[in-house]
Amino acid sequence: MTDRLLQLTQHPWGRQLLTTLGLPQPRRLPRRDGPFMPEELAGRPVHLIGIGDAPLLSVLTQTVSAEGATLVKDAQSAASTLIVDATAVATLEQLRDVFRQVQASQARLNTGARVLIFAARPETAGNARASALAQALQGFVRAMAKEMGRRGATVNLLHIDRGTQPLLSGALRFFGGDRSAYVSGQVLHWRSDAAALHMPDVAPARRLAVVTGAAGGIGAATARRLNADGFRVLCVDVPAASDALQTLAAQIQGEALPLDLTAESTPAALTAAVAAHGLLDLMVHNAGITRDRTLSRMSAAEWDAVMSVNLAAILAMDEALDAQSLWRDGAREVCLSSISGLAGNAGQTNYSASKAGVIGYVAHRAREWREQGRTINAVAPGFIETAMTRRMPMMIREAGRRLNALKQGGQPEDVAEAIAFLASPQAQPLSGAVLRVCGQSLIGA
Ligand code: NAD
Repeated sequence: MTDRLLQLTQHPWGRQLLTTLGLPQPRRLPRRDGPFMPEELAGRPVHLIGIGDAPLLSVLTQTVSAEGATLVKDAQSAASTLIVDATAVATLEQLRDVFRQVQASQARLNTGARVLIFAARPETAGNARASALAQALQGFVRAMAKEMGRRGATVNLLHIDRGTQPLLSGALRFFGGDRSAYVSGQVLHWRSDAAALHMPDVAPARRLAVVTGAAGGIGAATARRLNADGFRVLCVDVPAASDALQTLAAQIQGEALPLDLTAESTPAALTAAVAAHGLLDLMVHNAGITRDRTLSRMSAAEWDAVMSVNLAAILAMDEALDAQSLWRDGAREVCLSSISGLAGNAGQTNYSASKAGVIGYVAHRAREWREQGRTINAVAPGFIETAMTRRMPMMIREAGRRLNALKQGGQPEDVAEAIAFLASPQAQPLSGAVLRVCGQSLIGA
């Protein structure tokens, strides 16, 4: 779908026109495609700041260098990534130091830069003052993200448990590089408990993934992206979408499974297809539908249709996979939620309930899975340019596309990148989380 404003901003006269009309001026976002590389941040100028004792600074320096980045020595040199260790912030003076140092560095950040701040988890604060300071950093990050969106830049905050040394490579390569183009203003818990410190071995043979709803949109982009990372992908979609599914599967040397997720026979068919290959490394529950109607006018059929695809099918498929112990140790699961599941949306009581249900499911299952070194996360897209949003009435679609800090819709590939990241061994510390891919949408922010 063409974003006319984005096209206009590519020309000086277009920008002038948008300024005159007072319209948003989205920036073309820097993105990176292809598989994750061993030196994912190769050649990227990165500026590191430590506040107070900055206990993560040395491991951050090592990890950034191991990812191939070039360390920028001072705030006077241009940088594409700014990383701040604010985990030791314990006084208002140190909070002020974050403000001053980030302010000094910000002016030298390139367009489309990444800012990643590490802070102590407010929940682990020993007293009210520490809790206030930790929470203050969240406000700082969210406000800064809204300002930086104008420059196509993102700002995110990762919470660390006090006194721990987490695995940081995944955090740096995703949030510190161009893969996270449409992820901004997010606050996530980057775990450092024993389960999070065990990075699973990558199986020598091709890892096996299932992606539902793979015939188009986010599902097709995800199947392609996972194939690039070496997954053999079983692509599931409704029989009516068989042609698109077969074409995709042939392109990525995957396998097409034309199955309606709401059919009673589907969990058995899916587990049989998985078992034929061995064990499952990754399940991506992506298929989803909308049947929008205000509560007073919604039919039971519209409620049931959405619930059965968006939630019941996930539960049924997982139950079948669990019953046959088809998960590999260290396996990953990603469930598609939505910002509507976080904030609710008028005309979507069915959809919002189903997508909120996904979040509850993920939170509980993450605790159960920790023992086996497996992770499960929800991905909550905002406005993504797919068939689903193409079906929206024009004015609502245009509003949805602009109501975020980056003033544009995301691409299916942006969500696919987030899923590929969560599927990677380096994302082991993230589990039970909701990763929003929404350009810091104002909905549910
Ligand atoms: P899409 O409509 O482009 O694709 C969804 C796919 O799911 C289709 O190929 C469809 O055939 C398949 N599907 C639907 N019912 C099925 C069934 N019963 N059995 C098997 N397959 C079925 O949608 P999308 O935009 O790519 O969305 C993918 C996921 O992301 C969905 O869960 C959606 O709710 C979620 N999401 C999308 C957006 C967005 O802006 N596009 C925003 C938030 C959340």
